[in-house]
Amino acid sequence: MAAPDVIVVGAGHNGLTCAAYLARAGLAVTVVEARGTVGGCASTVDAIGARVNICNCDHTMVLAAGIVEELGLAAYGLRYLDVDPVEVAIGWGDEPAFVQYRSVERTVGGLPPAAGAAYRRYVDATLPLARLVLAAAAAPPSAGRLLRLASPRTAATLLAWRRRSLIDVLGAFGLPPWIQSAFAATGPGVWGVSPAAAGTGIGAVGPVVRHLAGVGRPAGGSGALPAALAAAVTAHGGAIRTASPVAGLVVEGGAVRGVRLADDTQLEAPAVVCAVDPRTVLVDWLPPRLRRPARPRPDGYESKVDAVVAAPPALRALAGVDVAPHVATTVVSPPPHVLAAGPGPRVTDPPMLLINVPSVRDPAMRPPGGGHLLSLEVLWTPYALAGGWSRSDEPWRWLTRLASLAEPGFLDGVGAWRAMTPEDYERDFGLARGYAPSFAGGPLSALLGRPPELTRYRTAVRGLYLTGAGTFPGAGVWGASGRNAAHTVLADRR
Ligand SMILES: Cc1cc2nc3c(=O)[nH]c(=O)nc-3n(C[C@H](O)[C@H](O)[C@H](O)COP(=O)(O)OP(=O)(O)OC[C@H]3O[C@@H](n4cnc5c(N)ncnc54)[C@H](O)[C@@H]3O)c2cc1C
Repeated sequence: MAAPDVIVVGAGHNGLTCAAYLARAGLAVTVVEARGTVGGCASTVDAIGARVNICNCDHTMVLAAGIVEELGLAAYGLRYLDVDPVEVAIGWGDEPAFVQYRSVERTVGGLPPAAGAAYRRYVDATLPLARLVLAAAAAPPSAGRLLRLASPRTAATLLAWRRRSLIDVLGAFGLPPWIQSAFAATGPGVWGVSPAAAGTGIGAVGPVVRHLAGVGRPAGGSGALPAALAAAVTAHGGAIRTASPVAGLVVEGGAVRGVRLADDTQLEAPAVVCAVDPRTVLVDWLPPRLRRPARPRPDGYESKVDAVVAAPPALRALAGVDVAPHVATTVVSPPPHVLAAGPGPRVTDPPMLLINVPSVRDPAMRPPGGGHLLSLEVLWTPYALAGGWSRSDEPWRWLTRLASLAEPGFLDGVGAWRAMTPEDYERDFGLARGYAPSFAGGPLSALLGRPPELTRYRTAVRGLYLTGAGTFPGAGVWGASGRNAAHTVLADRR
């Protein structure tokens, strides 16, 4: 069989997006994936007698990116369900509930007057930055392009917020602590850092992006996105090899020649795009003389309980609130002092929860045996838990803590369930130390091109490219990195 033009390593949604753009441009592409199925963290799998999402399945960035339309993914069965409100947040005490709708007006309308005015000031000031982030991510970055996109005022705000903390930025608009905590959970909380840490101020942009792009979930589960991408790859003549872990790269004379699989067979190609953790590629897979100095890899810190439940938890904090329960993810934030302390060697008490019942918005997610599907994401659960995860009763504690927020009887209705801990992500998804890669820079790093292989997708090895959540613009179900890397490969071929 003739060697492909490009091998893409990793069939997460970024690798598949990259492969789909390359195949559509007429290149012969082979995708090589370690797992038996495609999709990586964006997949939906069979577990506990149901179809279960690996991620929480709130897709925002991929909707803003326009990839679904550009690749015509509707033709491969992909259909998005709107999620509005886009987020609901409560605390562990008597804090008011916060309901964020796609519409700024509707969100402000649900707030007390002073909080509403502060919210409007915050959105007005942040919208230009949110538009910049989306525009900057839409093509391979270059200093010239980014300078054209950013007005001097927006660039100055970006520089200032990069140095400040999220709590500082949000507090300066007069947003009350219960809204600050809600945004802390879905910003620095999911990045694994304290919202009081300098450098987290840019996290103020994320909630405003939800006003621009909304939140959607693929009908049938998150995995419908990678499934449609995979169908697009094969429809354009590409090949996908699952159950084929890559163990290294073949490099000769400063140029990549292909990949070496774990069973020692080699696949040849003049170009290889690695859509896996960049550290694995740059430190573990390159020959010693080409290796990059190893930056320490952060540990993973998130876990997720999936459970079949008789009924969704009836959250007491939402009893008097005019909002359809469990359409949106409900964030439960710990008190500000727990958030400010940041992640530590123990799971926080109370825990930081993202409660999602995907079967409420999407009946196709209902377990075949009846009831509903609960997804309970728990943040700041350390990889190196004292005593280890295998004997830990932490996951059951999270369910009981959730039950303490709900009307009585919730726990009695919990049927089959499982917990995915950082150890499980390492074993099942190749995430070393449970770390789900994430590009820590942002538009400013892209502007400066630092580090080059993470912001420009090219490496020092000819024909070897990087993509995925560890490269610009970063984590989340987004696909922008995959598309940017494909455009970079195509530009180099021209
Ligand atoms: C619990 C959890 C909840 C999340 N919730 C959300 C959410 O609600 N919304 C959102 O936008 N984002 C969410 N995310 C983040 C998002 O899922 C990821 O950032 C994104 O899916 C990463 O995509 P990727 O294609 O870059 O990498 P991955 O999905 O990690 O794909 C990498 C692929 O490479 C494969 N691979 C690894 N090593 C090898 C090898 N040696 N050989 C061959 N193949 C290999 C892996 O098996 C995998 O399929 C969540 C993540 C987690 C863990």
